[in-house]
Amino acid sequence: MARAARAAGRDPEGVRLVAVSKTQPWANIEPVLAAGQTTFGENRVQEAMERWTPHRAGLTLHLIGPLQTNKAREAVAFFDVIETLDRPKLARVLAEEIQRAGKSPRLYVQVNTGEEPQKAGVIPAEADAFIAACRDDYGLQPEGLMCIPPSDEEPAMHFALLAKIAARNGLERLSMGMSDDFETAIRFGATSVRVGSALFGARVPKA
Ligand SMILES: *Cc1c(COP(=O)(O)O)cnc(C)c1O
Repeated sequence: MARAARAAGRDPEGVRLVAVSKTQPWANIEPVLAAGQTTFGENRVQEAMERWTPHRAGLTLHLIGPLQTNKAREAVAFFDVIETLDRPKLARVLAEEIQRAGKSPRLYVQVNTGEEPQKAGVIPAEADAFIAACRDDYGLQPEGLMCIPPSDEEPAMHFALLAKIAARNGLERLSMGMSDDFETAIRFGATSVRVGSALFGARVPKA
């Protein structure tokens, strides 16, 4: 990451590592914690709470998987960053839960840059209007954007598109890049990369 940042003329401090610990056994996570990593990403609310509640102090936890509205209350209470805000109904429920809790996680809007039907995220053509609605209709203050490019396409064009949408909407955070493409993402302005298997080894498939 540091090498990629320097090669792009960027300060390595400007890119955060979100260690994606989903489905990893604790034995794989412990050495990463012991090495001083404090920011982790999980894709399921319940699984994250079970795993991290005993170790919660001092950590920064990102929700990087789709959020159902019936889990919004727990997600607001538990996570520091929710990266998957992607539809008006979720914006409305999150706004209510943030009000109720009296605290807000930082929010990123997920953009489905490849317009893949099976993927979550607002499509690029609707991103500006959705971000405006988050601000004007729901009183939310998203700080950034997140994307997961199609696995069979060159990711650079998706990262460039995400950066462009962020810039024109005044959003400073860009969550993009995973194990196979984080260096490219850093070149295109990622402020955080979400890396799982390159850190922890291949995930154990769920039975
Ligand atoms: C699993 C996951 C990652 C990590 O993927 P790797 O290829 O293992 O680095 C990153 N982002 C999201 C949204 C994920 O679900």
